[in-house]
Amino acid sequence: MKRIIIALDGFSACGKSTLAKDLAKKLHYSYVDSGAMYRAVTLYFIENGVSLEDPIAIESALKDIHVEFHRNPETKANETWLNGINVEKSIRKMEISNLVSEVAALKAVRREMVALQRKAGKKRGIVMDGRDIGSNVFPDAELKIFLTARPEVRAQRRYDELVEKGTPESMEKVVENLAHRDHIDSTREENPLIQCSDARVLDNSDLSKSEQLETVFRWANELKETISPLP
Ligand code: C5P
Repeated sequence: MKRIIIALDGFSACGKSTLAKDLAKKLHYSYVDSGAMYRAVTLYFIENGVSLEDPIAIESALKDIHVEFHRNPETKANETWLNGINVEKSIRKMEISNLVSEVAALKAVRREMVALQRKAGKKRGIVMDGRDIGSNVFPDAELKIFLTARPEVRAQRRYDELVEKGTPESMEKVVENLAHRDHIDSTREENPLIQCSDARVLDNSDLSKSEQLETVFRWANELKETISPLP
């Protein structure tokens, strides 16, 4: 059976990564969190004082940035590594969330990250979540999903997630950050977040994790059956 590419896009804190991870596991596919790549670049820029106004410093920094995903043998989850260091926890902090959309809007940064993402999808059999996966990274993805949820549901989810990770923030700051990122992500020049006309829309505001997983799993299976295997 042909291995397909599944692109999962949507606004911040819609639960994309949870769904993408669960779906990849159920299909025995690999999973790539493209947002984690932009977060890792942001961490590097902050730690090394790279100015977003300095194209030469940005180009030079990008040559020194190596982002990888490694499976944690205990939790079995994929974690983000930057230049040989596990940064999974630090890239989720608010300090990173507050700057990541500005970093991700830079042409040079996107060029590098998109190349890495396409490389990861070469063998297909992948679920990737982000903002421009269906529109730009894999416009030929067999299954494109646009995930949405009501703003208050998204804010509550992100608030709970930060509490659970031991880095709580006020609800006000969470709401502010989501609105800020959504605005930049959908209005930037380079590959903005858009809802592709060929994407299936899923509003998961009132769905449990297993309900949303069943829906997308069914979509993936329907497609896999209708696509003829590669010669
Ligand atoms: O998915 P997550 O919220 O962790 O992504 C962090 C940020 O990375 C987004 O707000 C967006 O600015 C950027 N991003 C992007 N394109 C992607 C994935 C993420 O611009 N494909």
